[in-house]
Amino acid sequence: MKNTKYIFVTGGVTSSLGKGIISASLAKLFQGRGFSVTIQKLDPYINVDPGTLNPYEHGECFVTEDGAETDLDLGHYERFSNEPTSQANNVTAGRIYQYVINKEREGGYLGTTVQVIPHITDEIKRRIKLLGQNGSYDFVITEIGGTVGDIESFPFIEAIRQMRWEMGKNCAVIHLTLVPYLSAAGELKTKPTQHSVKTMLEQGVQPDIIVCRTEHHLNDGIRSKIAQFCNVDVSAVIESIDAASIYEVPLHMLEERLDIEVLRKTSTPIPEKIDISSWEQFLQRLHNPLHQVTVALVGKYADLKDAYKSINEAFIHAGVANECKVSIRYVHSDQLDHGKLADVLSDVDGVLVAPGFGERGIEGKIAAIEFVRTKKIPFLGICLGMQCAVIEFARNVLQLKDAHSTEMNPRTPFPVIDIIQTQKGIKNLGGTMRLGAYPCKLDPDSKVFSLYRETMISERHRHRYEFNNEYKKAFQKAGMNLAGIYPNENLVEVIELDDHPWFIGVQYHPEYKSTVANPHPLFVGFVKAMLDNKTGKS
Ligand code: GLN
Repeated sequence: MKNTKYIFVTGGVTSSLGKGIISASLAKLFQGRGFSVTIQKLDPYINVDPGTLNPYEHGECFVTEDGAETDLDLGHYERFSNEPTSQANNVTAGRIYQYVINKEREGGYLGTTVQVIPHITDEIKRRIKLLGQNGSYDFVITEIGGTVGDIESFPFIEAIRQMRWEMGKNCAVIHLTLVPYLSAAGELKTKPTQHSVKTMLEQGVQPDIIVCRTEHHLNDGIRSKIAQFCNVDVSAVIESIDAASIYEVPLHMLEERLDIEVLRKTSTPIPEKIDISSWEQFLQRLHNPLHQVTVALVGKYADLKDAYKSINEAFIHAGVANECKVSIRYVHSDQLDHGKLADVLSDVDGVLVAPGFGERGIEGKIAAIEFVRTKKIPFLGICLGMQCAVIEFARNVLQLKDAHSTEMNPRTPFPVIDIIQTQKGIKNLGGTMRLGAYPCKLDPDSKVFSLYRETMISERHRHRYEFNNEYKKAFQKAGMNLAGIYPNENLVEVIELDDHPWFIGVQYHPEYKSTVANPHPLFVGFVKAMLDNKTGKS
């Protein structure tokens, strides 16, 4: 049984400073020193989970093994630590309030006035401690979303204050701020950091460590100024300089001794050695690619990289596995018509059609797929991308005019993608899709099998619609191999084309499972196929 320590990561001055990356980097360093660690994100918004948010709000929705729709930072946690997360790792204010209000309705607080303090804060603390409960982690790192001073983050900061008071040295607080550079003055400015720490102090929390996001190195003068005004040791002022790649941040944090500082603050004996050699090798390969390919990512959020975060990162992992830099060309599916296809796609080495919901951009996706199918360009379709490949094949190969998914056209004469029975009666949209890990059986004669080298795989899902089995025979006869099936419900999970060098569509989301330590076989295979296509090897 471990004496679990709790580390909190808060943010000040602005959002988007990279608390998630700092948390994931610290976890990586702890792992390198032999500690077990998990990371949790508490989001102060009222949505019960981010599943109902559009990607413009918070970027991609990341799905865990147990089917939780979570914040995209959980993707970073998994990619860095190579440890799966779960519903318990992402809790929103909405989920906390929902729980407390339901309990009140059930009579769980009979006789008492239910209040933010203690009832909401107690529930927040319970959710934090839940992860450390069975003693399997040395450290639980809890990142608090948003910025200190926001009205909605008050109960979370109060919960930290209480936990700290209860647990003393078993807790530490890291506060991430921005140290802006004023080019006119030629100076880094510490005032916003001072104010941000003051805001925390007003709420009763003195940060132990201040991580300063900056575009320029902090000199000794700046470090001591921050230390002096924010009541921390100079060694606890940590520089987080802009990095060319997020994967460099653990090494920056190692250099700045963030892990050592946290170990000291929590009175944890400091292991002498750290082993992060495989991470260093990854970076070495990342920075010295031997090859380069360009992939077009066709999606309706092409102006928003965060909407496809896990896909971008999966390409980085798979690129490193192939010693290849993968450049991504984002292509707006709703601006893609037949006239523009050749201009946009003829010089790429492969095309990925992205997941998504709704009608917008769908015809552009289908047109792009016709282009890559007929021109024999490597193709990977994910979820809606796979469904579009089915629709394209139905329309252009099977000659089923106006074939469609019933999501886009409920009256299509040929519903090749349709909603399954178990999804039909569903009225509530939150958390009711086919979500999380499901098994899939691969055809041993398929391309996907040669990539996974396993018959039974497990992949994560997030969708309502499925391949319509009534059309199975027609597709197979015309050369589409239904190469992966979810056996329990006989649902098609993977499609591939017999007479194409590399054309694969998957109903699941492989990108969620790709990590630095374990690049995903489908992405590794796709990058290799693009390289082969480029060098004319296929
Ligand atoms: N909109 C499709 C469905 O619900 C695909 C979802 C997705 O791409 N994640 O089935």
